[in-house]
Amino acid sequence: MISKKEFDRIIEAQREPMLETLRGWIKIPSLKQDAQPNAPFGPALRKMLDVTLKDCQSLGFEVRDYDGYAGDAKMGEGSDEDALAILAHVDIVPAGDGWTRDPFGAQMEDGVLYGRGACDDKGPLAAALYAMKAVKDADIPLKRKVTLIYGCDEESGMEDMKYYKRVATMPRTGFSPDGSYPVINLEKGMCGLFLYADAPKDGLKILELNVGERQNVIPGAASALVAGGPEMQGQVDAISKQYGWPVKAVTENGAVRIIATGINGHAAHPETARNAIGQLLITLRDLGAAGAVKVLADAVGTQYYGEGLGIASRDQASGPLTCNLGIIRLEKGRLFATLDIRYPLMVAGDRIRDVAASHLPGIEVEQKFFKLPHYVPASSELVRGLLDAYHEVTGLEKKALSTGGGTYARMLEMGVAFGASFPGDPDMAHQADERISVDSLMKSLKIFAYAIVKLAGAEGGLHE
Ligand SMILES: [Zn+2]
Repeated sequence: MISKKEFDRIIEAQREPMLETLRGWIKIPSLKQDAQPNAPFGPALRKMLDVTLKDCQSLGFEVRDYDGYAGDAKMGEGSDEDALAILAHVDIVPAGDGWTRDPFGAQMEDGVLYGRGACDDKGPLAAALYAMKAVKDADIPLKRKVTLIYGCDEESGMEDMKYYKRVATMPRTGFSPDGSYPVINLEKGMCGLFLYADAPKDGLKILELNVGERQNVIPGAASALVAGGPEMQGQVDAISKQYGWPVKAVTENGAVRIIATGINGHAAHPETARNAIGQLLITLRDLGAAGAVKVLADAVGTQYYGEGLGIASRDQASGPLTCNLGIIRLEKGRLFATLDIRYPLMVAGDRIRDVAASHLPGIEVEQKFFKLPHYVPASSELVRGLLDAYHEVTGLEKKALSTGGGTYARMLEMGVAFGASFPGDPDMAHQADERISVDSLMKSLKIFAYAIVKLAGAEGGLHE
């Protein structure tokens, strides 16, 4: 039995060792490379995993390497299935441009730690590891195991967790500190549609149309080459004025290029974006394009809630269905396009294809990808325990959130994303100058430590 005051002192004592461990991790550019024996994601991730395993072991945890796909560190007794899982990852995305600090320098400045992986997801992993260490140092008895799992392939294909599930026992419940607070307990379902049609036979002649590379990206720029002359410029200017977004016409080799400028974004979060393909389609339609181009301009255009497809819907916990036209191509007399749809919990996702197809005459609609929503009830012991710990440490409002994105938490049957970015924090994941403040890392460490005690601690381990 230990007092909260004493526990807080033990938690605070983790600050320096945690920082030292984390800085060591950030200095390893753990990017995915070609596979080598026992290193399915290449030598950099092999090294990263080895260092993480060694660090966990030196803190007194039982560790295991799952052939370079993932590792884990365990404490407490009980079955693996009933363990409380904490799921994080050690792989990173490339540094990219625009850094004002060394992305692998682990530089500290005014209490802020810079580096790729600082908040996604090495920082949160370090906080979780030292939260376990604090519980261990405090000798708080546990009623179930706590298993910290660190994967090496979250950013690419989640092959790490598929492998872990095959060779190890994945706990049923847990959280992934790879998102935001207070807690994300709902991921919308996903439905990916591929559209095929004949190229328009009459109307405006489209010579070239090839925009977008990924279904889940809202393109911020789109262009098409069409038959026409300089007179088109005035028409396009009028269209731009009418709709209030930028589109222009430029003559090119005796034809006209129509160029639309939107705002780029992610299919899961269309609120701040504007689809340039949609602008382009509307412009082409208003210039006289017919057939499938007109149908798509009418039924999709720049709408991102699926209104014109008859699939607009929302529920209280999930928010709205979202729909993104991410790719469009005209090739060899055929038109191809993709729709990335994220649908609410209460929607019959398996009917989306049929309903959308009924609004797309002349277009063949194929369901290419389908995922059910992932949901852990807000009333579950897990969500309540996590929110209690969060509120107790920060005093901030308890609230369960939904997302249109896919999180690591989905790898657990009853998994939620919990931290480690706080409400109002700028989202630094995958950005230049990725960084995290030591104060918020320590806050997370404390939240995780209290969460472990609430969810895995035996009765009466901690008193006021
Ligand atoms: Zn991540």
